[in-house]
Amino acid sequence: MILLDGKKVSNDIKNEITLEVEKMKERGEKVPHLAAVIVGNDGASLTYVASKVKACERVGFDSTLIRMSNTTSEIELLDKIEELNNNPEIDGFIIQLPLPKQIDTQKVLMAVDPNKDVDGFHPMNFGKMALDMSTFIPATPFGILELLERYGVETNGKHTVVIGRSHIVGRPMSILMGRKGFPGNSTVTLTHSHTKNINQITTQADIIISALGVPDFLKAEMVKDDVVVIDVGISRVPDETSPRGYVLKGDVDFENVSKKASYITPVPGGVGPMTIAMLLKNTLLARERRQ
Ligand code: NAP
Repeated sequence: MILLDGKKVSNDIKNEITLEVEKMKERGEKVPHLAAVIVGNDGASLTYVASKVKACERVGFDSTLIRMSNTTSEIELLDKIEELNNNPEIDGFIIQLPLPKQIDTQKVLMAVDPNKDVDGFHPMNFGKMALDMSTFIPATPFGILELLERYGVETNGKHTVVIGRSHIVGRPMSILMGRKGFPGNSTVTLTHSHTKNINQITTQADIIISALGVPDFLKAEMVKDDVVVIDVGISRVPDETSPRGYVLKGDVDFENVSKKASYITPVPGGVGPMTIAMLLKNTLLARERRQ
């Protein structure tokens, strides 16, 4: 079994980006600038945003964190987005999800300038991705592709089963694994909560990408020998022995599934760090395009 070490690969990517930024500075160019907007006080969201800002500092990007209260109205958020769209200093920005109930997420994502949409959530960018055009690929699927590529995991002609059809992970992943090229050329099955007899499907999979958010959902008896397993899930499971009061768990019963797998990602240290590295990569791309 080979561990797909997202922590190591994401560090390699950050080092590569740091070198790019140093070259930009030497040429007297402006360094990439990422802004992140967070609405409300959700603990997990605050942690994710903080790690994105920290990652910007690590590679030499400029970053701006915009915190808005839980009671922010849709109009107020749309105004802030307009401001960021028109600010020439900002190369790319993200709106941390989920948003409070009073705000229509789709409306907000549609308001982001597609050229600054480094999360790749705008329908124009999503459409371009589906049509194999150059665009911003959503960071988590982009990170999974990068892991598969850097470890040389064969995807050509393989049966890939994606669990979960969210707009940010499962759905784009199913499109990307089925596209022409490497990683890609897979035969893809996209499963969700209405899928019947999922065990019969997963046991036929050469590659499983699990993004449903149910701890230990994928058991050893649900996979065949030598399967490649990508565990996207991150759930906080209460644990009194942990100083934080919880532990992070993936969708995969790692202890038992790893005994059958050829490649597998750990949680934490797998897909999570890759997501942040690819957000940086998209920001670099946004900067280069704007020049
Ligand atoms: P989500 O919006 O939470 O949706 C979950 C998906 O799983 C839905 O499509 C749902 O089906 C499906 N599902 C639920 N129960 C199922 C079952 N028993 N069998 C098959 N499918 C089932 O998804 P998400 O936002 O992609 O998040 C999924 C997990 O990934 C979460 O733990 C999240 O924290 C994690 N995540 C991690 C990263 C990272 O960087 N590592 C990034 C994003 C998300 P329906 O559509 O039918 O409801």
